[in-house]
Amino acid sequence: MLVPPPVDAAHLPALLQAMPKAELHIHIEGSLEPELIFELAERNGVRLPYASVEALRSAYAFSDLQSFLDIYYAGASVLLHEQDFYDMARAYLARAAGDNVVRAEIFFDPQTHTARGVSMQTVIQGLHRACVDAQRESGISAALILCFLRHLSEEEAFATLEQALPLRDQFIGVGLDSSELGHPPEKFERVFARCRELGLHRVAHAGEEGPPAYIWSALDVLHAERIDHGVQALKDEALVARLASERVPLTVCPLSNQKLCVFPDLARHNLRQLLDAGLCATVNSDDPAYFGGYINDNFLQVFAATGMTPAHAWQLARNSFQASFAPEADKRAWEVRLKSVFSDFSGR
Ligand SMILES: [Zn+2]
Repeated sequence: MLVPPPVDAAHLPALLQAMPKAELHIHIEGSLEPELIFELAERNGVRLPYASVEALRSAYAFSDLQSFLDIYYAGASVLLHEQDFYDMARAYLARAAGDNVVRAEIFFDPQTHTARGVSMQTVIQGLHRACVDAQRESGISAALILCFLRHLSEEEAFATLEQALPLRDQFIGVGLDSSELGHPPEKFERVFARCRELGLHRVAHAGEEGPPAYIWSALDVLHAERIDHGVQALKDEALVARLASERVPLTVCPLSNQKLCVFPDLARHNLRQLLDAGLCATVNSDDPAYFGGYINDNFLQVFAATGMTPAHAWQLARNSFQASFAPEADKRAWEVRLKSVFSDFSGR
């Protein structure tokens, strides 16, 4: 079904919250709320460089990606035991289910933890157990994507992959995140080729702060199936044509882009233009504890700022299902559910 049941714009905020959706760009370490950071710090005897929850939260005024990453890594330092990773993921999945997320593909950064002496097994098993329990209790479908930190070397990425392979059945793919500028996708060509041989899904951050050239190489060199962010694509007409014709998904994160000054304000965010150009754009929260909101906050604020319509909401939800790595039968079931929510609102 290509055309959604008509919904009065007055119902748009309620519709955005109620509609089922997939979240495909969420760094689990970026869902750590200051309250949980302090709770885990106390539980584990970790000393934090912030005096209180309020002091930590007030440090969340970032000027660019790097200023955010510095605080992000400090926050992650409280994660030591399997139960810590479990608690973090359960907290995120509970909030996501509350936002009517039916599928979450969750990024995690093992190198942030293994570098501190935490074992790969501790990280993956804690996160995976949370996904299994959340699915059983709330029905949310959840899967893990292991991300390589691009400011580190490809050799270190290979070592990380080797450590993770015994747990291969507990994650579905690999990604590339952290500082983009100066670390082009080409740096990870060989390790992504190996992941492709292993049958792992591949995604990569590209075109957040970096140039369209990074999106081209994420596609051609890394064989990425999805581009995380990708908002710089509109600077390159030939790239837009390719992304549209191949239906390459872009996992866009409006509040993150605003907070990290990728756009001067949300009203000038280009999500609407990406959709109008025929691209498979989706809405996601990136690092919700740090950027001022979870997925529904992203939907509500970017729609309010840019004047998008119920038809855009329909397109974004459908895009999120199509862009996910979930089984086709699940995608069809979520589309049916989407249509039913739109039909409910259509009758109001
Ligand atoms: Zn991200």
